[in-house]
Amino acid sequence: MKNSIIVAGNWKMNKTMAEAIAFFEVMDSLALNNVEAMIALPAIFASQIKSQFPNSNVKLALQNVSDKNNGAYTGEISASMIQSLDIPYCIVGHSERRSYYHETDELIFQKIKQCLAYQITPIFCIGETLEERELGKTFKVLKQQLERGLGDLNVSNVQHIYIAYEPIWAIGTGKTATTEQAQEVHLFIFEFLQEKYGTEIASQIPLLYGGSCNTTNAEALFSQPNIWGGLIGGASLDFNSFVELLEIGKKIIP
Ligand code: PEP
Repeated sequence: MKNSIIVAGNWKMNKTMAEAIAFFEVMDSLALNNVEAMIALPAIFASQIKSQFPNSNVKLALQNVSDKNNGAYTGEISASMIQSLDIPYCIVGHSERRSYYHETDELIFQKIKQCLAYQITPIFCIGETLEERELGKTFKVLKQQLERGLGDLNVSNVQHIYIAYEPIWAIGTGKTATTEQAQEVHLFIFEFLQEKYGTEIASQIPLLYGGSCNTTNAEALFSQPNIWGGLIGGASLDFNSFVELLEIGKKIIP
């Protein structure tokens, strides 16, 4: 069961180093109460943000990780490198990675295993396309992504994962899933986890909603019983709207 609200920003390929620092400077003065604030940084900013804000109340994540351990993979960043900076979270399987960089469920499973091997919590993203939803295939698609992405992970591994439901048709489009649609899918994910790993483990795995989540729809979404918070793209770039999302989280679980 959720005992805090998680507001995780995904900055994608946005901001300069100076803008990132300015954001973290202001964040440092805020009290967060029961809200877990997180920013998935562009990887190149991670080292400086980590050393300049060692006690930040914002948890740090990266947006991608290699499926390989180490070696001749030009341009890649390994889980051990992320661990060496003490960055505790990493997004895996974002729909932009799946569609623009052709990441498959099998590759995503390898990335999840890499994260877990280096004590990094993967934020595992799943979601259906508009066509799949309109054809009534939403649950079939999500079940397949969950089965393949989690593979043969055992209970002790899976309890370190976050899952983000991000309907592809809602990402960056301004279209949000209704609270009913989002809660229905989150309950489905919970029940999938419950069947596979048992109630105790399923109840510990944070389930985030992502897809045009913003200050006008967040309260209704975050109040749903199986929605622990949001993975937020556009609305996390602007400092004021990110802070407003944190305030919404505080209202839900004071
Ligand atoms: C995302 O990229 O994870 C996302 C949900 O983006 P946006 O909030 O902009 O739709």
